[in-house]
Amino acid sequence: MMASQKLLCKQILLPQGWASDIVVTIAADGTIAGLETKSDAVSHMAEIADPVVPALQNLHSHAFQRAMAGLAELAGSTDDSFWTWRDAMYRLVGRMSPDDIEIVATKLYSELLKGGFGHIVEFHYFHHAAGGRRYANPAETSMRILRAAQGAGIGLTHLPVFYAHAGFGGTEPGEGQRPFIHGVDEYLALLDALRPDCDAMGATLGLAIHSLRAATPDEMRAILAAETTGGPIHIHVAEQEREVEDCLAWSGRRPVEYLLDEMPVSERWCAIHATHMTTDETARLARSGAVAGLCPATEANLGDGIFPATDFVSHAGVFGIGTDSHIATTVAEELRLLEYGQRLRDRRRNRLASGPGASVGRTLFDAALKGGAEAAGLRSNGIRIGARADLVVLDGNNPFIGTATGDQILGRWLFATGNDAVRDVMVAGQWVVRGGHHRDEEAIDRDFRKVLQRLA
Ligand SMILES: [Zn+2]
Repeated sequence: MMASQKLLCKQILLPQGWASDIVVTIAADGTIAGLETKSDAVSHMAEIADPVVPALQNLHSHAFQRAMAGLAELAGSTDDSFWTWRDAMYRLVGRMSPDDIEIVATKLYSELLKGGFGHIVEFHYFHHAAGGRRYANPAETSMRILRAAQGAGIGLTHLPVFYAHAGFGGTEPGEGQRPFIHGVDEYLALLDALRPDCDAMGATLGLAIHSLRAATPDEMRAILAAETTGGPIHIHVAEQEREVEDCLAWSGRRPVEYLLDEMPVSERWCAIHATHMTTDETARLARSGAVAGLCPATEANLGDGIFPATDFVSHAGVFGIGTDSHIATTVAEELRLLEYGQRLRDRRRNRLASGPGASVGRTLFDAALKGGAEAAGLRSNGIRIGARADLVVLDGNNPFIGTATGDQILGRWLFATGNDAVRDVMVAGQWVVRGGHHRDEEAIDRDFRKVLQRLA
């Protein structure tokens, strides 16, 4: 365990707003133990002149998919859709070993740290070998995710996913889905088996249901009644229009409507995507307290649609951001695309600012910090006493950042400087990114390159 440390931050974004000359005391366990305005009595401490903001939580990830990012941008003979992308993903799954999963996840997590994230929520459904063959340790691939997060130095909420069917009404899974499939008892045993490992490495354990397509209502109820994780509950819902049509055909109700009617949705839940909602569903989801898990770059890449964010926020809905398929890996890209989707739909500017004169960047950042921490099952968020010391230092040598003050800093970072404004990143009191480079970047890249060459 490291010694406690003090950092003098010249400009820092605290929950109450920007502050100057704040001494951040970080305890040996990596949490923030003190926040005081500098007094002359304090000396000999590291000084950070550049802007310091909290690292965000990334609330949705399928780490292995990073290996195929950019390779599905190829026109097929028919109308390409989410479903043709999914077939390409299944082909990748059939060729990846546990070692590959760990190497790809480690690379991804190092990239996410460089993009300004300090914590990842891994929605992990890749449990078995090709054809569904079980590994000797049923938690094999989950353990690879835990090790990847530890190796990269990112905080982790691990969500093993229950996945049993190909479509609504409990249909048999297809061959490509075999590596994802569990029975209810087998799934509950996996959750139990992971408890000590997650505790030992400081990871939060929660659960996920892949979607209403992949689990029957009875299976979902059985899992919810028996699970003891106490962690967050995530589910993909209403990502695709075809999913809405299929759900209507099966139940006479739309996916979000069905979920809210039939399941005990609360603050503990996170509805991933929730793209296709009526105005009534939007208001109801907001009122439920569930976090909307938005993944704007993936949703754009897969042609999903545009989340009704302005409407959802007007009902005090809580949202966070994730990178899902990892076609993008930065805070800036996700938040920018979230805002731009609303602008393109409405043909208006500044859609998600909290009010007249408010900074769009600041509103988006604060919202994603609150929703991200909730969806990750973390007790605290932002730079406050008791929270984990997860900090991002933006690069003051970048003229846009170096000349900005207050919320302009977020505007410059998120909208204008591309993705290279993140200079240093600390997670739990340890610097994992310095000068724009991950601490183990060379070794991580060497291993990752070998995996890509073999999978290509
Ligand atoms: Zn997803």
